[in-house]
Amino acid sequence: KHLPTDSLTDNRPRPVSNACFSFVNPIKPTSPKYIHHSEELANELGLTISKEEVKAYLSGQLSLKSEDFKPFAMCYGGHQFGQWAGQLGDGRAIIIAEAELNNQLFQFQLKGAGPTPYSRRADGFAVLRSSIREYLCSEAMHHLGIPTTRALSLVTTGDLVTRDIMYDGNPKDEQGAIVCRVAESFIRFGNFEIFAAKRENEVLKQLVDYTIKHHFPALGKPSKDTYLVFFREVVQRTKDLMIQWQRVGFVHGVMNTDNMSIHGLTIDYGPYGWLEDYDHNWTPNTTDRDTKRYRFGNQPNIGLWNLVQLANAIYPLIEDAKPLEEILDEYKTTFHRDYKKMMLNKLGLYDQSIPKSFIAYTEEFLNKLQLDYTIFFRLLSEHELDKKYFSAILTQSSYFNQETLDALSNYSTEWFQTYKNHLDQESVLWQERSEKMKKVNPKYVLRNYMAQLAIENAEKGDFDLIDELYELLKAPYADQPEHEKWFAKRPDWATNKIGSSMLSCSS
Ligand code: AMP
Ligand code: MG
Ligand code: MG
Repeated sequence: KHLPTDSLTDNRPRPVSNACFSFVNPIKPTSPKYIHHSEELANELGLTISKEEVKAYLSGQLSLKSEDFKPFAMCYGGHQFGQWAGQLGDGRAIIIAEAELNNQLFQFQLKGAGPTPYSRRADGFAVLRSSIREYLCSEAMHHLGIPTTRALSLVTTGDLVTRDIMYDGNPKDEQGAIVCRVAESFIRFGNFEIFAAKRENEVLKQLVDYTIKHHFPALGKPSKDTYLVFFREVVQRTKDLMIQWQRVGFVHGVMNTDNMSIHGLTIDYGPYGWLEDYDHNWTPNTTDRDTKRYRFGNQPNIGLWNLVQLANAIYPLIEDAKPLEEILDEYKTTFHRDYKKMMLNKLGLYDQSIPKSFIAYTEEFLNKLQLDYTIFFRLLSEHELDKKYFSAILTQSSYFNQETLDALSNYSTEWFQTYKNHLDQESVLWQERSEKMKKVNPKYVLRNYMAQLAIENAEKGDFDLIDELYELLKAPYADQPEHEKWFAKRPDWATNKIGSSMLSCSS
């Protein structure tokens, strides 16, 4: 690997110094069982893999024999909820293989395959519930066209894992499970921060040089200038990712710097959620209920905050704050430009001279009426506004309750009027506009209650709904009449049920 490694090869928890990773083997599961795998991803990777092989090799039961590769876990640190948290690292993720395909690198990582030197006081395992959420959502994000780590497979281990899900002091045994994730690399901002924090500048430089050489080869030979171009690339990718999340209403929930991919991928699906009734301040994460640091409307700011931490981390290699600050400033300007363009696309408007204030007005309108984000924009894409402006969309649909409709009154008439005026300024024909709008306004997203239903069935041994949702979410922008029931607001029972609308961190 040409990167410094830990001198020990075992999984005892320990502070690791002057090393980017530690060799460690997955724990063999008692009786692994195949649940699902992504044939699309396997095909893309040129792999033919049977269910038996998934069960054996992607559960840690059998290891892939290789002369020049040994499984490892990476060392990283991170800022958690705004505070430096020291060494974190892959506490329950082990990279079991690397491959190169068409000049692109891929790593295969088992999440939940047992303790590593970075497990701290935790067990290194994952439960079925959270593994289903990661498996379904990674693939759903990919099919939405949003950069993400992928999920190749889902297996159960046959072992029990204890979790205190209600935080009531009554821990419960749950089924253990493993997701095999695939990405170009799993390097996070925290991988760089840890070496800057420990003043291990030599290792820091080796990791940055390695990252550029292997993952950003177009940037050329390492030098201070290359480091800046590398940083600009990460800044722009992170900005693009934030815009994509806002487009579909994805709320990550734990945007700590150890969960920020250097490639601008969505990584680490924990207490994430999908915005339903529009609310800037919504967060799915129970542990973030008070400060709401990672709320929907704050994600772009946090993206920037995290990039500032990355800038601090690589500063020792550059020793000049000014160019780093200039690049960080570009985040703000390009974000505002691109965010406006994205929102205009959602609205089917293509004239970039429409004032920014119309976007703010639209958000205020959505926020005030708490309209379902996905349904509202999809209806807007499917129904041409008639003379009564919004009647086709709102009053004739069963997607909004009477209370919402009453609240619409003058305020919404005004918004629709303004919107209609903008539409009338453009020459795009309705049919063409509708087709374009449907490509940016998904019809199906993984609402929390959907994942929850799949989890409840799976815990009883019925995996059909995992497959149904997996298939549905492969074509999120298509009309799937046979799946119309998933284009609906969250049912009332789901709103009231504990655990189905709020989630917490690592499980
Ligand atoms: P997360 O909040 O999921 O990003 O996790 C933060 C840190 O805790 C990372 O270093 C994880 O590897 C570690 N971690 C989370 N869950 C576990 C677990 N069950 N066992 C060991 N480490 C864990
Ligand atoms: Mg994490
Ligand atoms: Mg996690």
